[in-house]
Amino acid sequence: MLLVTKGSIHDCNTRHAQGGIAAAIGKNDSPQLHYKDTIAAGDGLCNEEAVNILVTEAPDRIADLVGFGVPFDTVNGEIDLTLEAAHSVRRILHAGGDATGEHIELTLSERVRSLSVPLLEGYLATEIILEEGRVRALKTLNCARGTTTEFECHFLILASGGCGQLFKFTTNPEVATSDGIALAFNAGADVVDMEFFQFHPTTLHLPGVATFLISEAVRGEGGILRNAKGERFMTRYTPQAEMAPRDIVTRSIVAEMSKTGEDNVFLDITRLPPHVTTTRFPRIYRFCLEHGLDITRQQIPVAPAAHYMVGGIKVDSWGESTISGLFAAGEVAGTGVHGANRLASNSLLEVLVFGKRTIQRTRHQYETASAGFGNDVLTRIKPREPAQNAPHASLAALKQLMWDKAGIIRNRKDLTEAASMISAWQQSLPAVKNRASHELSNLILTGRLVTEAALLREESRGAHFRSDFPRHSTGWHRHIVLQGKIRSQNETTI
Ligand SMILES: Cc1cc2nc3c(=O)[nH]c(=O)nc-3n(C[C@H](O)[C@H](O)[C@H](O)COP(=O)(O)OP(=O)(O)OC[C@H]3O[C@@H](n4cnc5c(N)ncnc54)[C@H](O)[C@@H]3O)c2cc1C
Repeated sequence: MLLVTKGSIHDCNTRHAQGGIAAAIGKNDSPQLHYKDTIAAGDGLCNEEAVNILVTEAPDRIADLVGFGVPFDTVNGEIDLTLEAAHSVRRILHAGGDATGEHIELTLSERVRSLSVPLLEGYLATEIILEEGRVRALKTLNCARGTTTEFECHFLILASGGCGQLFKFTTNPEVATSDGIALAFNAGADVVDMEFFQFHPTTLHLPGVATFLISEAVRGEGGILRNAKGERFMTRYTPQAEMAPRDIVTRSIVAEMSKTGEDNVFLDITRLPPHVTTTRFPRIYRFCLEHGLDITRQQIPVAPAAHYMVGGIKVDSWGESTISGLFAAGEVAGTGVHGANRLASNSLLEVLVFGKRTIQRTRHQYETASAGFGNDVLTRIKPREPAQNAPHASLAALKQLMWDKAGIIRNRKDLTEAASMISAWQQSLPAVKNRASHELSNLILTGRLVTEAALLREESRGAHFRSDFPRHSTGWHRHIVLQGKIRSQNETTI
């Protein structure tokens, strides 16, 4: 076994996770209830088999983490559980208050080192090499030296995380550049549900300060959203108010901002006793205080930002993609577990449950289960007329374009413009030579996949909202699968 990562092992989305990890371990909870909440959030598109696996195996994966030494917060010797939006009971485990991801990441990376698992840091995966349709090797670039190396492998597991860097405002760190989706698609693997990108409703919005997540758990503990006039507004949009699913809260905030002409709203937790705020949310409290905001006394200015890629490399319930020997786990994978929208705190859980299954499958060579996406729309991306006079391709230009034209509220005109612009960039990109150019190229390809899938889905569902098709359509009660290149037939599809 060999682990390869493009930066330090600590550079990842996992380290930034705040709120926690969901599992039905509470006395008044059950996997059935967790299943029901996950299916409801997924808005008709969850893979039921995958959800069943997720909620049933969750308690055992939590027990694994406890065994490895993750210090989950406790009260009177029992694991403390908090509430997050769209969960019907308290089922979110957390560690260090709002430092859950950091504790999980540090515990697991320490374990990798203590077990002497071979690990190469600073190696960027750049290409999946196939032989007779099966994975043969992974090509990598040593980011410091600029040298390339091919590692032969029988199985390749992509666990390369998300793609938040597609958008101007994002909670994701710089490593989230969608490399895995681009590598797999270029090798010929199918990708699924690319139109579903989740925007988080509440990120800190202070001039000159980088986007910083204000966890859902803040609303779970009683945080109230107010507009610039100090009015609580969520009750006007939905009876679930602040505890509505993320997409609803996000769009309500966007509507409220456009009504008041402000570029943020406020999250108010001043009614909580200060010691509760500082012990339950120490990272958020410290970060805001460092930027001159005492959240025990002042409201937090917040606005939505790109957060989580729901779709990804299409895999079955053992993590295997449509290419033999190629697996994917975590945010890069499209298991179907989140449907059209992710239930908060189910993503760390997905990493654990399906990561473990992927290892089991590769180790024991189990029979592959069915992907469970029976009624898919299978399609190849058609060539598209590139935009004329497209500006020079750059990360900043791509992020602005995606935020403006393929973000929270979409329509055909904007999406078509975005797809044409990206098509022009795809044709004009110079040859890749270093980490930054590989990442830009991967993001540009992913931007194209997102916009083409979003154009195809002429309805609104879950995290995907089209102002020209604002409702569900029964005809779209299915997944969009974008099929990868087939090199053997010399077919250029995108
Ligand atoms: C601010 C924030 C808060 C969040 N809060 C929560 C939460 O409370 N609960 C929850 O469930 N989820 C949360 N999420 C989502 C969750 O953290 C992620 O979905 C999850 O951690 C993804 O884990 P992963 O292992 O798939 O990817 P990551 O943890 O991102 O790891 C991917 C790794 O792959 C490496 N890599 C990428 N490309 C390459 C390449 N080409 N070559 C080599 N290496 C590569 C990266 O460097 C990185 O080390 C949050 C996300 C963010 C950003």
